[in-house]
Amino acid sequence: MIKASGVNKYFGDLHVLKEIDFEVPRGQVVVVLGPSGSGKSTLCRAINRLEPINSGEIQVDGKPLPAEGKALAALRADVGMVFQQFNLFAHKTILDNVTLAPQKVRKVSSGDARKTAMELLERVGIADQAQKYPAQLSGGQQQRAAIARALAMRPKVMLFDEPTSALDPEMVQEVLDTMTSLADEGMTMLVVTHEMGFARRAAHRVVFMSDGEIVEDSTPSDFFTAPKSERAKDFLGKIL
Ligand code: ATP
Ligand code: MG
Repeated sequence: MIKASGVNKYFGDLHVLKEIDFEVPRGQVVVVLGPSGSGKSTLCRAINRLEPINSGEIQVDGKPLPAEGKALAALRADVGMVFQQFNLFAHKTILDNVTLAPQKVRKVSSGDARKTAMELLERVGIADQAQKYPAQLSGGQQQRAAIARALAMRPKVMLFDEPTSALDPEMVQEVLDTMTSLADEGMTMLVVTHEMGFARRAAHRVVFMSDGEIVEDSTPSDFFTAPKSERAKDFLGKIL
């Protein structure tokens, strides 16, 4: 579903993605781990072309990323993204946050958009918050609303960039539970996270990045029990 081949990205002289090769097959969950500054967010952003790359190729659903126009808008509609900050529209209700893009981009009728939104809010456990504004919700509820909003576009793949790292500890689990059930339903997901429990439970593969390189790409059990590189051992030593 996502395939990166020989991807390089520079910010000025800084080489932040170095010959990146990896795949997220349809229906699989790939967790990206790595120290701060290793290029995880840049990689996520490159996949829906929020960051252009300097060389190499990224394909989503068998097609190279379009550079602009309608094709780029279509790509972004197919690739749902959830960030550390919830990025909800502050002046719109939760329901309106979820129904807006499907109506604008997918041309869904307002009745259908509303019906789907309520189903999704139910699924993430916040249907009772639909008429509130983002600031009236807890961080965990806001992040679940952001997930519902992304799912309302019926994406082919979901990207998560540290979705729980801005949350108070007691709200982390409710967001991870939502993500785990999405994974169990077969959603294709690329997840940058430091939540090792989620990686062990939900990931098909773990990709470990350091200094812009993919240093390891293995199953969670291999990665956590027998990391091969010194850099991964060092990283695990610090976080576990
Ligand atoms: P973290 O765990 O802290 O989120 P990360 O692995 O997501 O880190 P990136 O945000 O991808 O790391 O950053 C990779 C490198 O690129 C870092 O050295 C960062 O300073 C640099 N960088 C990121 N965005 C920009 C930018 N817009 N301009 C210049 N340098 C940038
Ligand atoms: Mg980051």
